[in-house]
Amino acid sequence: MVTLTLKKGREKAVLRHHPWIFSGAVQSLSGEPGSGETVAVRDSGGNFLAWGAYSPKSQIRARIWSWDEGQSINPSFFEERIRTAIKLRETLIDPQSTSAYRLIHAESDRLPGLIVDRYNETLVMQILSAGIEHWREEITDILIKLINPNGIYERSDVAVRGLEGLEERVGALCGKIPQRPILINENGIKFKVDLLGGQKTGFYLDQRDNRQFCRAIAQDKSVLNCFAYTGGFTAYALAGGAESVLSIDSSVEAIHLAKENVLLNQGSLENCEWIVGDVFKELRTLRDGGRQFDLVILDPPKFAPTASQAKQAARGYKDINLYGFKLLKPGGTLMSFSCSGGIDELFFQKIVADAALDAEVDAQILYRLSQSPDHPTHLAFPEGSYLKGLVVRTGN
Ligand code: SAH
Repeated sequence: MVTLTLKKGREKAVLRHHPWIFSGAVQSLSGEPGSGETVAVRDSGGNFLAWGAYSPKSQIRARIWSWDEGQSINPSFFEERIRTAIKLRETLIDPQSTSAYRLIHAESDRLPGLIVDRYNETLVMQILSAGIEHWREEITDILIKLINPNGIYERSDVAVRGLEGLEERVGALCGKIPQRPILINENGIKFKVDLLGGQKTGFYLDQRDNRQFCRAIAQDKSVLNCFAYTGGFTAYALAGGAESVLSIDSSVEAIHLAKENVLLNQGSLENCEWIVGDVFKELRTLRDGGRQFDLVILDPPKFAPTASQAKQAARGYKDINLYGFKLLKPGGTLMSFSCSGGIDELFFQKIVADAALDAEVDAQILYRLSQSPDHPTHLAFPEGSYLKGLVVRTGN
């Protein structure tokens, strides 16, 4: 077993059970571990700290599996972790009303780099670390054993794999994968999800509870849903009795599916307007046209994946929030989100505050929202908390 020894004084994060070891903290290696192989992590005095997966190309040189010296990193270890993650979801999800949710949330389920989403009887798996890549077949077998899905589809088609020295890859890992969009249930609302071609693993499962929140406040409101994707917030707002919903997204395919989703749930496209276009531009057009709404939803894609892009991203958030406020009726509500890991909650709040100031509205935060609990944040891994939402009400 290869030993990875940390520089003197660099063991603090590991002792606090943070799962990442950066290359700059590494003093030496006793051998040449392959990508994803298990190493023993020790402090500069030779004391055991943890077992981790080695990643030769990554800035994150190792990700911790366990802090228990007596633990063997083998298939039973992964089976135990996966069992624990599944059990948690059993306490969170009512299968009667919700058939799609995140089963494994990587670092926060103590399985660094592994995402598994469940869509009915199909699992979609995304591998983001050298360690999980190393155990890919064993993990697939464990998922088959514990869940017995109809199929497991791998969607490791994300650029961050490059940082781990891994190629992008998609394809069936086992079983039959639906080639056409499938019908899922979320809080009793139906959605078609394209597992093969959709964004992320097909659906933005992390917004489930926030969509439910939207349903609860939508009664009789005129709603503007920006970055609508396949109509998640749109369908919930309509189910909550919204008077009208205007949905904007730049993706033709997404809006096409959004319309199908509304049809599935209310049987017609009544009270709906659709725009395929760029939100930055369309918000200005709506403003120029004198349009006003009771509820504006802003759920943009990740403008700042890391802190280095935060400044540039802040301009984007500021712009859409400024126009979001301008398009609200007095006493209106803004639901504004950021899923950028590089922008923390306080910074996001400041951006929204700046936007309100420029829009010359007086506004109060009523609720703070975050990702749904099937996307937990491990307390030792604050980076796991990426989705921030503010529900803001403007003055009359
Ligand atoms: N709210 C959605 C998820 C939004 S994901 C839900 O609950 O399912 C972000 C969406 O923004 C994607 O659908 C993407 O196509 C769209 N998008 C990205 N940049 C855009 C832009 N400049 N203008 C309009 N839509 C954009």
